[in-house]
Amino acid sequence: MYCKNCGNQIDDNAAVCIHCGCATENQQTLQPVQQTTGNESNTIAIVGFVFAFLFPLVGLICSIIGLKKSKELGGAQKGLAVAGIVISAIVMIIEIIVIAFYASLIIALISGAATM
Ligand SMILES: [Zn+2]
Repeated sequence: MYCKNCGNQIDDNAAVCIHCGCATENQQTLQPVQQTTGNESNTIAIVGFVFAFLFPLVGLICSIIGLKKSKELGGAQKGLAVAGIVISAIVMIIEIIVIAFYASLIIALISGAATM
């Protein structure tokens, strides 16, 4: 093949042009793979953080997985995973209080209606 930068003929398997040192198509196709192993984004932590507000149980599970994954990735999105766990726990507690409040309200209404 030929170098895209200087136009000189180079080896088909060469990652870098021997004439100008410019990255070849081989290098360009290899790079994304190297980047994903280097700074892979901790998607599960982001998902967990988002779900913490909507579905705290799903958010909590995803955040715990995200926290484990962040350790594997060398601390990527660790703060986000921790925040996801904390927020999903808080949201869950609030939801339990709200559900308990409404449940007691409904029970009070039913028992009140029954006595009438
Ligand atoms: Zn070149």
